[in-house]
Amino acid sequence: MNIFKSLETNPEAKRNTANMIPSEHVKCVIIGSGPAGYTAAIYAARANLKPILFKGIQPGGQLTTTTGVENYPGYPDGVAGPKMMEDLEQQATRFGADIRWGIATAADFSASPYKVIIDEEKVVVADTVIIATGATAQYLGLESEEKYKGSGVSACATCDGFFFRGKDVAVVGGGDTACEEALYLAGMCKKVFLIVRKNFLRASKIMQQRVMDAPNIEILFERNTKELRGDQVVEEAVLIKRMGQPDETEEVIKIDGLFLAIGHTPNSDIFKPYLETDETGYIKTFPGTPRTNVPGVFACGDVQDRVYRQAVTAAGSGCQAAIEAERYLAQR
Ligand code: NDP
Repeated sequence: MNIFKSLETNPEAKRNTANMIPSEHVKCVIIGSGPAGYTAAIYAARANLKPILFKGIQPGGQLTTTTGVENYPGYPDGVAGPKMMEDLEQQATRFGADIRWGIATAADFSASPYKVIIDEEKVVVADTVIIATGATAQYLGLESEEKYKGSGVSACATCDGFFFRGKDVAVVGGGDTACEEALYLAGMCKKVFLIVRKNFLRASKIMQQRVMDAPNIEILFERNTKELRGDQVVEEAVLIKRMGQPDETEEVIKIDGLFLAIGHTPNSDIFKPYLETDETGYIKTFPGTPRTNVPGVFACGDVQDRVYRQAVTAAGSGCQAAIEAERYLAQR
């Protein structure tokens, strides 16, 4: 069954690669250096595909911005995100993966072998492409939010909630993710504020009900977060109630942590002319596989996963992508 619509030829898709000289032709290029990319590199290297991995804009991926990773199997004492990424890189290098600095700035999947343009100047020609470019959590854009990233501000309750056991926290957002994060945190924190900018939740009815039923979740409707304050770590948040209305007021809530759940943006823009994505930009894959609508192009990790978004699930899908790449090459 083909779950994909046929893609119209998009004139914008025709990248100007004519005057770029292909610098090398490889069996497998991997784009992105989070758990999905590195795991794909480990498997592809061990399968003798001699993969090249380009690290991308945020080397190490989103895990490099978390406090610590305590839910990845095999680390009984937990591990810092950046350290885990270093370990994964070393492991991939040990098997011969060629790990390089570089950002994929365009792609041409109109015909095999495919082209990936690195840093707007170099063309890598590849028989298979593994996309592991991840997703970027959206933040509010406050100066104080930037200041406390890693010391009270997080965009992942499953990753960092544990550090706030028995404490008071707030979640920003009114969608399913915000409700899920709030419920997860309610299981370990004393109190959870859910800060919602409108006077209603956008989340599904069942999630709304669960949140309303939780005794230690308080929903603060019509609140915008203005500022975070604290000495070294977050201690309080300044909220604006009914922003822009005649009765607008400011209020302060005492919290130890602020979790953002206002959406993620999958890093898929450069592939959209060729790959089918859903309405929010996540690359569509055949269910249970990393296969995209272009044979030989695979997507793994958060760029194709809006639901689980965990290091371990990303790593698992990176493994699948490398195995699929190997099989694709063997069958050609
Ligand atoms: P959504 O886009 O659904 O919700 C984002 C929420 O953040 C909205 O309430 C929005 O407010 C709010 N928001 C956005 N920007 C700001 C801002 N600058 N300041 C304050 N609030 C802001 O994203 P989700 O990540 O929740 O969900 C994405 C998709 O994934 C949805 O389709 C969801 O159903 C799905 N999903 C499903 C799950 C499941 O089935 N278990 C779990 C998680 C997600 P406003 O409403 O005012 O725009």
